[in-house]
Amino acid sequence: MNYSAKNSGGKIAGAIIVPMVAIVLISVFGIFGVMHWSAHLSDRNAEQSQHTLVAGAMQLTQNHLVKQQTGVAIWEEAYHVVNQTDPDKNWIHNNMTHWLYQNHGFTKSMLIDRELAVQSVYAHDLTQVWMTPNLIEDLRPAVAKVRARYIVSMKKTPSGLYRFAPEYNETRRSIAETGVLSIDGQPHLFTASAVVPQILSISKKRTPPVTLVSLMPLNGEKLHEIAEMTRLEGFVLKGFEESSTAGPQPSRRANTDGAGQFQLYSPLGRGVGVLGWNTTRPGSQMLDRITPFLALAAFMIAALVIAVIVFTRLMTKRLARSEAKAVLAARHDALSGLPNRARFHALLKEALETGFGKNTNTAVVYIDLDHFKDINDTLGHSAGDQVIVAVAQRLKWVIPDDGIVARISGDEFAMVIRNCEDDEWLEYILDQVQDEIGRPIMIGSHELFASLSMGVAVAPRDGNDPDDLLRKADIALYDAKANGRNRRSFFEANMEHQVQSRDRLSRELRLALQNDELDLAYQPQSDTGGRRIVSVEALARWTKPDGTVVSPAQFIPVAEETGLINELGIWVLNKACAKAHDWPGVIVAVNVSPNQFKHPRFVEKVMAILAANNLPPQRLEIEVTESVFAGRNDSVLKALRRLKNLGVKVALDDFGSGYSSLSYLRRFPFDTLKIDRDFLSGMNGNPEAEAILVSIIQLGKALGMTIVAEGIETLEQLRFLQAHDCHRMQGYYISKPRSEADLTAFLEEFNGDSGGGFGTDLSFQPRKVGARF
Ligand code: C2E
Ligand code: CA
Ligand code: CA
Repeated sequence: MNYSAKNSGGKIAGAIIVPMVAIVLISVFGIFGVMHWSAHLSDRNAEQSQHTLVAGAMQLTQNHLVKQQTGVAIWEEAYHVVNQTDPDKNWIHNNMTHWLYQNHGFTKSMLIDRELAVQSVYAHDLTQVWMTPNLIEDLRPAVAKVRARYIVSMKKTPSGLYRFAPEYNETRRSIAETGVLSIDGQPHLFTASAVVPQILSISKKRTPPVTLVSLMPLNGEKLHEIAEMTRLEGFVLKGFEESSTAGPQPSRRANTDGAGQFQLYSPLGRGVGVLGWNTTRPGSQMLDRITPFLALAAFMIAALVIAVIVFTRLMTKRLARSEAKAVLAARHDALSGLPNRARFHALLKEALETGFGKNTNTAVVYIDLDHFKDINDTLGHSAGDQVIVAVAQRLKWVIPDDGIVARISGDEFAMVIRNCEDDEWLEYILDQVQDEIGRPIMIGSHELFASLSMGVAVAPRDGNDPDDLLRKADIALYDAKANGRNRRSFFEANMEHQVQSRDRLSRELRLALQNDELDLAYQPQSDTGGRRIVSVEALARWTKPDGTVVSPAQFIPVAEETGLINELGIWVLNKACAKAHDWPGVIVAVNVSPNQFKHPRFVEKVMAILAANNLPPQRLEIEVTESVFAGRNDSVLKALRRLKNLGVKVALDDFGSGYSSLSYLRRFPFDTLKIDRDFLSGMNGNPEAEAILVSIIQLGKALGMTIVAEGIETLEQLRFLQAHDCHRMQGYYISKPRSEADLTAFLEEFNGDSGGGFGTDLSFQPRKVGARF
């Protein structure tokens, strides 16, 4: 039970927690992933635009070099000088190459003539070692392009001559070629331009130009200029990295360490150097900025998830616990902790199944606490609860280990005793149960003695079906109670018969009421001296059509069980009140059973009957036994009080037979006290019994009640009661219950003027009526 509850709790937790954690993890990782991806994208975009920026700055710088070189390359004078067979080197030095160095910082220059021979070379430091074949080779494509463009731009005139006429700047510039190359490991910018006249030249042939190549180291001022243009930070020129010499195209990839790179290549694709800078990586920067927040958010989400998990687990655990508790509560009795009726049924079924075919006996015992209602009523419900708990505990102690004890209802328990060897062994166990329960139970300062009645059915002898066995144990219990309490009965087939006959009896009683088969007998009660009959007790009589007489001791309990008592009781009241007219001055006593008081309009009905029969309330006496106080006695007390206030007399019947009659005397001011006949039958010269009888009479008198003794069978009893001044005498010695007509005659004779009662002296002879006994 516990296990399954936990299990279902775990399932719930799993069903909630696992998907939730998965969703949260996926979301967190997803968010981080997207952030990183977009940061990476924006980094790459930034990187690319920085790259484009550097490329643009390089282009601009190179264009600017072309422009500076053009100052000497597009010049009539220069054109003429360089195209002479023996050009004036001094002039060239002063006006072109050195001038370019002085004015624009071209540190090196050379003129390449039409035959591609190096015409003159200039270096500001007068060196020549830099003129390596590599350099010439690197420059060759640029020079070739310049020459080709120049030739292409020579237009043939109609006269057959070729004419070169630069028309606008753009064309001129297009006859220049720039780039980067390395001289002795130092990157240089270079520009190669055709030396052309400013205005016009005409020649017979299309001959290539003299080309001026000027170089300038890419460092210091120049580098700074480029850096200024790009406005990039940490702009430097680094040596060429071999690994990056993938091709002539500048690599567009950014360094992973946050440094941008722009590879410089010579026209032949030789690596020249690398422009580097600190890339601004906005994506990463943004990521760096928000990562702490994201981490915090992730941390909070994780904390939240953990909190939710802990909470969910706690809740599911609690749920599982309350589920287990509910299961326990559904199966157990809260007060005693014993299994309840439903659980007992299941356990019994199980026990019978395991015992089946094993040649062992399984006993089912129904237990009813005797007089439990009285304990509840007199000592209060908490005392009743304590008794239940004590009994439950003792039953558990005394029953064999493999036995089952359950609480079926209020004061009903049940047991299963397995593997009973035989009836004797079972009897021994049940003896122990009775002894154990018989030990006093301490409730506060009260010492209570409980007893129980038990009904026993044994499987397989009495059957193997749990319902059947329970029913039979119940029948046996009924039998035990019917035969006086504090005893036990084993189920016997004829008990079932009795139950069946009880059922039949109730059906017949219903019909008897309808068919007017019931009648009333009246038992007279004389005054102390036996001179007059002062009252009669109405007693129900039932003679079946076949002549069999059913005793009220038999059919009244059945009527009470079936609820027929209400109808029967009203019928008795009606009949008795109607007859009372025939017996003026005589009080009619009617027995009223506790069930009748449960009827909410009982008092009204009594009053209506009195009114209908025109009978003063004082002529009616209602006899109740102390069992009327069991259960909700407040409403009963109220009804009794109302009846008493209306003038109806109220008698406490069978006083002393019950559990705590004395306490009832305090609770309601009865008019009449009827001493139970057991006191009289137990008398017979027994001084103790006599003493009790006397004290009851005295007590009743002290409380101002009329004392009635019933069951007087002998003259001795009568004498004794007369001696103690008992008010009313009832019993076979005075008269047996009589039929209506009989009673009328009896009263006329007894109370008539001719001769009163049994005599005025104490000799008390039943002379007139003896024949009727
Ligand atoms: P109860 O109220 O105690 O009635 C007295 C019973 O004692 C009557 O038995 C009566 O016949 C019997 N009795 C009277 N004198 C003597 C005697 O000297 N010796 C012996 N041994 N018995 C004597 P009965 O008529 O059989 O009634 C039995 C019980 O049935 C009554 O006991 C009463 O509790 C119940 N009862 C009878 N009629 C009614 C009724 O109309 N309504 C209700 N609710 N109960 C009734
Ligand atoms: Ca009575
Ligand atoms: Ca009685």
